[in-house]
Amino acid sequence: MNLDGKIALVTGGSRGIGRAICLKLAEMGALVYINYVSRPEAALETQRLIEENGGRARSVGFDVSDSTAVTEAVKKIVSEVGPIEVLVNNAGITRDGLMARMKESDWDEVIDTNLKGVFLCSKVVSRGMMKKKWGRVVNISSVSGFAGNAGQVNYAAAKAGLTGLTKAMAREYGSRNITVNSVAPGYIKTEMTDLLGDDVKEQLMGEIPLGCLGTTEDIAGAVAYLVSDDGRYVTGQTLHVNGGMYM
Ligand code: NDP
Repeated sequence: MNLDGKIALVTGGSRGIGRAICLKLAEMGALVYINYVSRPEAALETQRLIEENGGRARSVGFDVSDSTAVTEAVKKIVSEVGPIEVLVNNAGITRDGLMARMKESDWDEVIDTNLKGVFLCSKVVSRGMMKKKWGRVVNISSVSGFAGNAGQVNYAAAKAGLTGLTKAMAREYGSRNITVNSVAPGYIKTEMTDLLGDDVKEQLMGEIPLGCLGTTEDIAGAVAYLVSDDGRYVTGQTLHVNGGMYM
């Protein structure tokens, strides 16, 4: 599983699942660009952890839903080190609430970050992949995009949209040796799920055949497979990493 000499960009790589993905890709030999939007100190901590392990990383702040910011950031990376060959679209937010009470701004923010952000980043980054005739795109989806989840019409819609985007993109880019896949985590222990109440967590446990929450490393391992040579013949797929809670 070697990414020696490859350039990787992980959106929302500063903490949570994104941080574990950054650490894994760096361990595989990639120079990893760690994206963040609001917490530069968290991105620097990820960078420090990578460098401590002997890996290479840089931090890059931009909002994935801002077309100009995405274009400028990617242009700067390409001018520094060359085309990005591995893109992990991981940045994501929740603005949960039952539909009857959900504000339009909660819908827009989640769709803009979790779905449009993937379109914007993939569109710009894939130009370099096409020139190189090699690329790996992995979109971080969610079990909510497959099973639905009360209180998450915005989030479930964005994540379900990613499945269509992943498949269509895989068809468009396959001939250039670019694979495009999704990883759909179940419930993973991060700041996002720390927000859930104890009663909700207990109820969830009952729905997970493996009987525990996943770890960020479980997701990083799935991403590692898809971007490695072992995953070279896999495209347009979703890898479900959820302890069996959705089959
Ligand atoms: P966290 O809330 O822990 O981290 C979110 C990350 O996304 C941060 O790095 C944050 O940057 C970044 N981010 C948020 N908005 C933007 C933006 N507009 N532009 C750039 N970066 C942004 O999330 P998780 O690690 O829990 O989730 C990561 C992904 O996994 C998400 O796509 C989520 O939907 C998905 N997922 C998570 C599950 C879970 O159980 N945790 C389950 C299923 C899916 P900053 O630090 O600067 O704020």
